[in-house]
Parts: sequence; structure tokens; C-alpha cells
Amino acid sequence: MLSAGFVLTPAQIASSDLEQCIGCGICESVCPQGAVKLSTGESPHSVVDANSCRGCGICVAECPSGAMSLGGFSDEEILAEVMV
Ligand code: SF4
Ligand code: SF4
Repeated sequence: MLSAGFVLTPAQIASSDLEQCIGCGICESVCPQGAVKLSTGESPHSVVDANSCRGCGICVAECPSGAMSLGGFSDEEILAEVMV
């Protein structure tokens, strides 16, 4: 892996909308990769480590505020695929 000089990561990685995030920490507790951490400070919010995220989508499904999304798989994009 190291001899290649680069590492391939999934195109679908999670990210959170800071305006919607309520800092509950659920995403941090459910991520099997340990890729999400809550920021510290007065109003904590989730921060995704793009190098660790494997794009499983668990945090997106568990987020109660809809702040977390998976690149290329927003609610709008999924609905557009299923609508005829
Ligand atoms: S998509 Fe999966 S691996 Fe990535 S941050 Fe969310 S729970 Fe963790
Ligand atoms: S689960 Fe959603 S609202 Fe809670 S900290 Fe994570 S992104 Fe923010």
C-alpha cells in the first residue's frame, strides 16, 4: 500500500452542514471508523476526517437533524433517482 505512493479512498464521504448540526454527538458514537469527532468549544459540531471515512452512511441515517450527508447521495439526489 505504501509503495504505491497514494491511497484510494471512496468518492462518497460524509460531511455535515454546520448550520443544521446540533452537536448531539450521535454520529461520533456510531461511526465504525472513528472518522467523526465533535469540535470543542461553545457550540460543538461534527467534523469528518475524509481520510478515515469509508462512506458507509451510518452517520447519515442516524443524524436526527439531517445535518449529515453523503457525497453524491443527498436526499434530493436519491429522490431524483427514484422519481419517474
Ligand atoms: S459515512 Fe460511515 S465511515 Fe464515514 S463518517 Fe459516516 S459512519 Fe463514519
Ligand atoms: S448526528 Fe447530526 S446533529 Fe448530531 S453531531 Fe452528528 S451531524 Fe451534528
